[in-house]
Amino acid sequence: MKKHNFNAGPSILPREVIEQTAQAVLDFNGSGLSVLEISHRAKDFQPVLDEAVALFKELLDIPEGYSVLFLGGGASMQFCMVPFNLLAKKAAYLNTGTWSKKAIKEAKAFGEVEVVASSADSNFNFIPKNFVVPQDADYFHYTANNTIFGTEIRETPDAGNVRLVSDMSSDIFSHPVDVAKYDLIYGGAQKNLAPAGVTFVIVKNDALGKAGRPIPTMLDYQTHIDGGSMFNTPPVLPIYSAMLTLRWIKAQGGVQEMARRAKERADLLYGAIEDSKIFIPTIADPADRSYMNICFVMKEEYKELEPEFMKFATERGMVGIKGHRSVGGFRASCYNALPLESVQALVDCMKEFENR
Ligand SMILES: *Cc1c(COP(=O)(O)O)cnc(C)c1O
Repeated sequence: MKKHNFNAGPSILPREVIEQTAQAVLDFNGSGLSVLEISHRAKDFQPVLDEAVALFKELLDIPEGYSVLFLGGGASMQFCMVPFNLLAKKAAYLNTGTWSKKAIKEAKAFGEVEVVASSADSNFNFIPKNFVVPQDADYFHYTANNTIFGTEIRETPDAGNVRLVSDMSSDIFSHPVDVAKYDLIYGGAQKNLAPAGVTFVIVKNDALGKAGRPIPTMLDYQTHIDGGSMFNTPPVLPIYSAMLTLRWIKAQGGVQEMARRAKERADLLYGAIEDSKIFIPTIADPADRSYMNICFVMKEEYKELEPEFMKFATERGMVGIKGHRSVGGFRASCYNALPLESVQALVDCMKEFENR
């Protein structure tokens, strides 16, 4: 039976990326060696890293003066690296969910943190609007896509003259981003880009060196800029797969095409949830709904049928649709590599269940 992969992360990758990665594990570029057993500094691997960086810059139209880094430690490491490097006195954060909260907690170790707005009181089921970013903050941080709660900020928020920092772990390359408006964008790769193990950072070079504190070598972005992401051994295999995914995105038509597909998938699934008599979306305002992580529950009067639907859907090949424990119900993660036919299969499955 065909599996439809709605996993939240690690998650679906293009089939050809998996196949080409598997091939390189067996024989890298006809070298007779595995990509797992060559030096990261080998003349063979440097072109992979260079191509990954070049594709990042090309696909996101990254202006001059920015560096693209591939690091270890996950997005969670960035929760502390960002304030370590950028917070001199005070930072502003928008609290839209679990990942924002974790980022805020780390920043507090480095200075004053002003939370400009929060949707915590309603279990993060909307994106706060009309917040004011204090203009004396060193930067304003927000989570672009709330992977757990299913809300998303696709338009760059207005932070006035304050530097912008964003966690784009789960929606990078799913729509165009005006990188010039940001000082730093980061994310774990395992949602939309590569297998787990690599973290990308896009950083404006002149944002660095202003925090006025000593920074441990490995946590200093400048170290990795100077070392070209090779200060220490980088996560070679995930970088290789990321490069393949970026080639795939380019061949499909770039981020514009990814955005078109994301909207097409989201329209289909949210439409079916809206039309349903038994399901409702957890995010009421369509403007706040994530295109990447689509969360829905059963209406109060049908609530007890949730485990039954879970079983029904699993039997029909749906994988990973159980909602996060802090929301309940269901979550269909619809990342870049998810074909529309998988969403259609889920919609058919929901209709079949409802009609019984
Ligand atoms: C998954 C996720 C993280 C955590 O990523 P790790 O690489 O596991 O540290 C952080 N932020 C967002 C938005 C995520 O989706």
